[in-house]
Amino acid sequence: MQRLARPIDFASRDAFAHIAAVKNLGPYVTAQVAQALSDAVYPKHIEADLLALRHYLADFDGLTHQAERIRRVTEAQAVVRRLQAVTPEALAPPPPAPMRAAAPPAHDLWNLSIQYAKGVGPKRAALFARLGIKSVEDALWYLPWRYEDRSQMVPIGRLTPGQAATVCGVVASSRLKQAGRRRLTILEVTVEDESGAVLAVFFNQSYLEGQLKPGTRLMLNGTAVAGRGGWTRLRMDSPQYETLGEEQDATVHVGRIVPIYHETKGLSSRQIRTVQRHLLDQFAGAMEDVVPPAVRQRHNLPPLTTALTDVHFPPPASDPAQLERGVTPAHQRLAFEECFLLELALASRHQSVKEEIKGIRFDPDTRLTERLRQALPFRLTAAQERVIGDIRRDMASLKPMNRLVQGDVGSGKTVIALYAMVVACGSGYQAAFMAPTEILAEQHYLNLHPVLDSLGIEAVLLKGGTGAKQRRAVAARIESGQAHVVIGTHALIQKGVTFARLGLAVVDEQHKFGVLQRKTLVQKGYRPDMLVMTATPIPRTLAMTVYGDLDVSVIDELPPGRKPVRTLVFGEGKRRQAYDLLADEVRAGRQGYVVFPLVEESEKVDLQAAMQAAERLQAKEFRWTTVGLLHGRMKTDEKERTMAAFKRGELRVLVATTVIEVGVDVSNATVMLVEHAERFGLAQLHQLRGRVGRSAQQAYCLLLASGWKGDTQGAVRRGARPPSPSQQRLDALVRSTDGFVIAEEDLRIRGPGEFFGVRQWGVPEFHAVNLVRDAALLEQARREAFALIDADPRFARPEHRGLRQAMLRKWQAKLELGSVG
Ligand code: ADP
Ligand code: MG
Repeated sequence: MQRLARPIDFASRDAFAHIAAVKNLGPYVTAQVAQALSDAVYPKHIEADLLALRHYLADFDGLTHQAERIRRVTEAQAVVRRLQAVTPEALAPPPPAPMRAAAPPAHDLWNLSIQYAKGVGPKRAALFARLGIKSVEDALWYLPWRYEDRSQMVPIGRLTPGQAATVCGVVASSRLKQAGRRRLTILEVTVEDESGAVLAVFFNQSYLEGQLKPGTRLMLNGTAVAGRGGWTRLRMDSPQYETLGEEQDATVHVGRIVPIYHETKGLSSRQIRTVQRHLLDQFAGAMEDVVPPAVRQRHNLPPLTTALTDVHFPPPASDPAQLERGVTPAHQRLAFEECFLLELALASRHQSVKEEIKGIRFDPDTRLTERLRQALPFRLTAAQERVIGDIRRDMASLKPMNRLVQGDVGSGKTVIALYAMVVACGSGYQAAFMAPTEILAEQHYLNLHPVLDSLGIEAVLLKGGTGAKQRRAVAARIESGQAHVVIGTHALIQKGVTFARLGLAVVDEQHKFGVLQRKTLVQKGYRPDMLVMTATPIPRTLAMTVYGDLDVSVIDELPPGRKPVRTLVFGEGKRRQAYDLLADEVRAGRQGYVVFPLVEESEKVDLQAAMQAAERLQAKEFRWTTVGLLHGRMKTDEKERTMAAFKRGELRVLVATTVIEVGVDVSNATVMLVEHAERFGLAQLHQLRGRVGRSAQQAYCLLLASGWKGDTQGAVRRGARPPSPSQQRLDALVRSTDGFVIAEEDLRIRGPGEFFGVRQWGVPEFHAVNLVRDAALLEQARREAFALIDADPRFARPEHRGLRQAMLRKWQAKLELGSVG
């Protein structure tokens, strides 16, 4: 605090006389705040104050107006005073345990450099660092990615051709050959034991000659085949091998189930194994088991030491299938701990939000909400009513709302945002509604402002494409408070935009935004309520990890009268059929989309494909009607005109790139035809499909996919080759229209790493946990964690101290980013 206060106080001293001389205040404060936040977890309001400091001063050095500089420093100083007033108890880290100083390095394995391990010097340590291993603890949690059963050694003389086996022997001789035309170098090594000899053959690895000198003891693992030309001796091509030293090797590297680790250049799996053995021998006694005994007992978890030992060096009786899948009791014990620590972090954050922050208490029952209900052209579904109920409760409470609404495409999320915004305005606050694309922001504005107008609420639209002059005018209305509802794109979070009284921030299609963008929006107000919405459902169990500190409401029902969209896949020869179907619908008075993929790498070509298709369709197949074109490169007003024309029905077919993926809402459109559907991701296709089926009319989603092997109803033919991921995706789409089912399927096809892509959700990294496999475990851990935090929110009990530290160490930095608002 001192370090933060000093320069700020300096800047304000003698009636700001020195303010012009202050240099580098922005970077300094930013760094100090970052440091403070990574040193400890603070109660939410303190964290908010720290962030506010950063917010006020981050760009300080670039400010040219003296008045603005003074204003910033004054604001910052107020925050500093508030922070200085915080009593040590309020920070509530548990008092340091007096016994700690005297204790053995038990608690400090994470501080103990890997260099302290036997056999690791500075050079090795640098190699370990490349694997992300710095401390002893890191190393112990670096788990094998697979195992090899070397417990059954076969005497070389009893090798059977065609069978995989492990043998152990000594190099008798070796020979390096060049093989004729293809210039292969072939190393042939004869390995023998008392019972016989086998030829190990290595291709293009001539450097092995130096390693496998005669007399070297080594282990080979591979499949023996009969040698050529009447040899009686068997051969192993490219076997796994490990050279064996003399002493302890017998029990570490062979004669048992051995762990195999991911290697890095200069550090082999075998060397890692040796170090792990040393570590376990050295430190097994010093490890601290942070999972409380009661929890361990309830879930039947082995002690940490046992678990780590068994994971690295499985006992002889281990179940090979369990090892293979990483679900032995030892693995599950480690996975549980990881889940538990994460959920604890989420639970304590949740708790601190509940306790600490005082936000705005809105009145959810103003005359405006009454009138809004009357103005709606439909009755809300039961699911919508339930979610609105959640929101009303949140908004009426003093605690800032931090709620995620998950609802499939077309489930009616917009009206929920509208409701919340009307509540905010009814209590005299402003509301912001941020959408990821201009088209969507525009459409929200067009849809919402008539309703808002009728309630006497002024809505404005703010987006990137707006001219500078007009934007200034809009910004002025926002700053003066004349504009009550502000709808817009990222333009909302730019520097020049200041709200008079922002009370509610709504983010639509939140997965399209980064965490920092959402945070910036929230910081435009003083602890405003926050509502984020998404149509990209993620499997429920994952939602718990990813949205851990958000309250979640789900709209699990579509407005009445909707028929599920019929989805058909067309292989190459069948595109005519698909376009005929589109033509039929257009003739019957309805409209349709034709969507082309567009990816950055091939943007030009992709764009051309869409443009040419639009021209060709208009000139040929759809000569008798109107075809429009929409893509991201068009000028804003052009886009608007096209979209408006399609909405009014003047354009019947709209050829588009994926700009229409989210949010576009034209209920007379009943066909979504997707070209090159094999190039799209599953979630994206589901989103696209959601653009149709928005009325009682039967709607169609027609997927054109090159290489499609199934028929139009899906079901990939089971041939010799398993269906490719893209075929699986298309098949999944045909089989279900439920976003949750599709998300589960997507996760299954891609695995969690890929599923979360750029890690926009800040999905944590685990060593032992597989989020797909361990869903049940995660749920158990979550229950335990929330119960523990309920009972002991500050980790005050002695048996919980190590737990808090372990939790902070693992998750603090990530959760700072991972949280919303
Ligand atoms: P999304 O959840 O995808 O954002 P929207 O909010 O765009 O969905 O709603 C899709 C369509 O459903 C809109 O045309 C909207 O007016 C309509 N709608 C929303 N709620 C209802 C309802 N309760 N009854 C009938 N139609 C509704
Ligand atoms: Mg929407």
